[in-house]
Amino acid sequence: MTRVADHRERIAGLLGVLPVAALPVVDCLGLALAEDLVAPIALPPFDNSAMDGYAVRAADVSATPAVLPVADDIPAGRTSLTPLEPGTAQRIMTGAPLPVGADAVVQVEWTDGGTSSVRVDRGVAAGANVRRAADDVAVGTTVLRAGTALGPAQLGLAAALGFGSLPVRRRPRVLVLSTGSELVGPGEPLAPGQIYESNGVMLAAAVREAGGEAELLRFVPDDVAEFHAAIGARLAGFDLLLTSGGVSAGAYEVVKDAFTGRGVEFTRVAMQPGGPQGAGRYQGVAVATLPGNPVSAQVSFEVFIRPALRASMGLPVVERPSVRAKLTAPLTSPAGRTQFRRGKYDPASGRVVTPVGGPGSHLLSALAVSDCLIEVPEEVTELAAGAEVVIRFLHSG
Ligand code: AMP
Ligand code: MG
Repeated sequence: MTRVADHRERIAGLLGVLPVAALPVVDCLGLALAEDLVAPIALPPFDNSAMDGYAVRAADVSATPAVLPVADDIPAGRTSLTPLEPGTAQRIMTGAPLPVGADAVVQVEWTDGGTSSVRVDRGVAAGANVRRAADDVAVGTTVLRAGTALGPAQLGLAAALGFGSLPVRRRPRVLVLSTGSELVGPGEPLAPGQIYESNGVMLAAAVREAGGEAELLRFVPDDVAEFHAAIGARLAGFDLLLTSGGVSAGAYEVVKDAFTGRGVEFTRVAMQPGGPQGAGRYQGVAVATLPGNPVSAQVSFEVFIRPALRASMGLPVVERPSVRAKLTAPLTSPAGRTQFRRGKYDPASGRVVTPVGGPGSHLLSALAVSDCLIEVPEEVTELAAGAEVVIRFLHSG
């Protein structure tokens, strides 16, 4: 049997690290910055007003009330300015450039709001309500380091600095294919003995949630020729083929039959669920073959595929967050296998976790109401209520 950690490493090794590409900033959410980001301009780029009000010389409003003629009107976006003459004011809006000669802004609330002349009721200190050029970022500053995961604030900063595109590691492209002669597409009529195909939707969503791009092929029956026909010339341009079903010990194991001796190795990993696994390379494309039981497929994705996809994107964090928690109910687990039980974590009542459903790998509805996997180590066969376990969340928030 293959160790969980070894199979994980094998999948990550097959995917490797993806190349760097320049992508429009708007498409970079969740990607890793591939180079340090150095500010080509200052932020703010120019001295500007932090308030709607009047640009003045502080000395001109030190005795109040002060009445000053309003010599100009400066909306945000004005690109040419007249210098502020001593003894005058210019009406100015938030974000508008401060005219030369002004050293402060009096907020409109402290004035009568006049447009030809203004009465200032309260004085301000020099520098009041002025945002100085480079207050936030000086030209040439490294604002983000290579490897940073780009979230909304990082993308906003890049745009503020004028970047239209960013060097990032691109998203992995994953082709998803489900197998099984019993499968019927959701929305189609179901005959006795048939079930709806659910792994495809689930795994494609899992790929996208991990940050990858997924294309879902129409599922194929347990027929090697049909399997090969489905992938045929479709693999070009993909980084990973992700199949489900057809890899266990029965007859009609279509994925095993189609790939054995063709660059993909099949093994049993010491885990439950998700024992039967395959990995390799076919037509130059990485291949990971997951077992068909829906819970096995999804748990395998979490354990093997998600970390590998995220590592391939150069992301600093590839794992889901994990914490220690106390079991609210006892558990049993097979010797020699890491068990991943589904659970619901409750931080409010003392960091406890409740197992949801049994160990059966067909119990999809239990997975759907769980928020974590309870990791029971290989050597552990029994855990009492109250025992401490490691749980790994099924979400990253
Ligand atoms: P297999 O790994 O092909 O032997 O399938 C194991 C179990 O998972 C069987 O009960 C299958 O019917 C079920 N199964 C396999 N593929 C899917 C799928 N794409 N959607 C839903 N159930 C599936
Ligand atoms: Mg099958």
